[in-house]
Amino acid sequence: MADKPDTDEPVLQCKVCLKEIPKSLAKSEEADEYVYYFCGSECHDKWTKENGNSNK
Ligand SMILES: [Zn+2]
Repeated sequence: MADKPDTDEPVLQCKVCLKEIPKSLAKSEEADEYVYYFCGSECHDKWTKENGNSNK
């Protein structure tokens, strides 16, 4: 098997700041039928507060 140093990793977009992040670095949150991705815990926290997971 050929092990490429430069992997063609999928790039995702942070749900909050819209920054592009490689999939391996993204934090994810499953919401209903969607999975949202975040560049870090800062954006993840912000989104969680605004979307109140425990408040349906
Ligand atoms: Zn972000």
